[in-house]
Amino acid sequence: MRVLKFEKKNTNKLFDVLSKFGEVWAPVPKGESYSYQRIESSKDFAFTDGCTRTVLPEKKLLIPQKFSTLNFNSKGYEKPDEEIPAKIVFGIHNCGISAINILDEFYTTDYIDADYKQRRNKMIIIGTSCMPDEHCFCDKTNTNIVEKGYDIFFTDLNDYYLVWIGTSKGYDIVRVGQNMGIFNEDIPKDVSERFSKFRKEKSEAFMNDVDLEGVTDLMELSHDADFWKELGDKCLACGQCTMVCPTCTCYNIIEENTLNKDAGTRERYWDSCMFKDFSLTAGDHNFRAAKSERLKLWYTHKLKAFIGHFGVPSCVGCGRCIVTCPVDINIKTVAERLKKKGA
Ligand code: SF4
Ligand code: SF4
Repeated sequence: MRVLKFEKKNTNKLFDVLSKFGEVWAPVPKGESYSYQRIESSKDFAFTDGCTRTVLPEKKLLIPQKFSTLNFNSKGYEKPDEEIPAKIVFGIHNCGISAINILDEFYTTDYIDADYKQRRNKMIIIGTSCMPDEHCFCDKTNTNIVEKGYDIFFTDLNDYYLVWIGTSKGYDIVRVGQNMGIFNEDIPKDVSERFSKFRKEKSEAFMNDVDLEGVTDLMELSHDADFWKELGDKCLACGQCTMVCPTCTCYNIIEENTLNKDAGTRERYWDSCMFKDFSLTAGDHNFRAAKSERLKLWYTHKLKAFIGHFGVPSCVGCGRCIVTCPVDINIKTVAERLKKKGA
C-alpha cells in the first residue's frame, strides 16, 4: 500500500479528478443533518468535517429504495436495460465502509445478488477520517478503523491529509491526481508521531458509554425476559430503525402488471422486519404478530445470529438507531436492559 500527501488547498481540484471517473456523491448538509447527494460542481465539493452520519446510509446508493428488478411479458422476462453509472462516493467514514464490507459478505456469500453486485462493481469508495459525536460507538464494535473496503482513504492530520491507497482503482485515481500535481510524496518526517496523535485523540473522543460486552450470550439468556414486552408496548412499528441502519437488508418484491396483463415489472423495495405484515404468511398466519417478537428478532439478528454466520455483529456503531427512534429503543437502551434484567 502506498501513502501520499494531499494539501487541503487542492480540494476543488480533487473534485475535477474524481469526476473523470464517474458521478461524484458525497454528504451534503440537509437541515440539521447530512444526506448523500450527487455533487455536480467543484464549488459544491468539500470535506464535510462536521458530518458524523448521514440520515440514510451508503446502502441507498447500492440498493435503491425502490427499483425494477425484472421486466416481463408473455414471452418471458429480462433485466431492465438500465445503464448503471459509476459512482465515486466520497466522505464515507470507517463505520460506513465497515457496513459496506458487511453488505458485500451478505449479498455475495451464499447467493450472489445480481442487483447489488451490479451497483457495487460500479462504486468507488473514498473514505475520510472523522471524530465521534455523543452517539457514535464504533470503538465498541471494532469498526472505528478499517483495514479494507476502501479504494482511497483520507486521514486528516490538520495541515494536510494522508492518502491511503487501498485498491488498483484507487491507484488509477491517484495517478491522475499526481499528474495534476495534487498528490505528492513529500510526507513530513514527523508523520508517524502526528498519525499516532490523531489516533489517540480519536479514541479519547468517544463519549457513548454503551456496554456491549457479553450481549451476544445475554441475548440467548434473555429470550423470555419481561422487558421485551415492555419495549414492544412502546415501539411504534414505524420501521425507521431498519431504514436508517446501514446493515439492514430486508426487502420485498411485488409484480406490477400493465392494464392488459400481458406485461409488467417486478419491483423491489426496502422492507422492514418491524412492520406487522413482514411475517405474514399464507393462511393469514403471522408468526411475529407481536411487536416484542419483532424487536427480539432484530436485536437477535444484530447481536447474535449474524455473528454465527459471518463472524462479526451486524452493528457498526453508527448511532443512527439512537438518533432516529422516536421512543428511545436502540442498541444502547436494549444493551442496558440485557445487562440489568437479562440473565
Ligand atoms: S444497529 Fe444502530 S448503531 Fe448499529 S449499525 Fe444499525 S443503526 Fe447503526
Ligand atoms: S424500535 Fe423505534 S424506530 Fe424501530 S420500529 Fe420501534 S419505534 Fe420505530
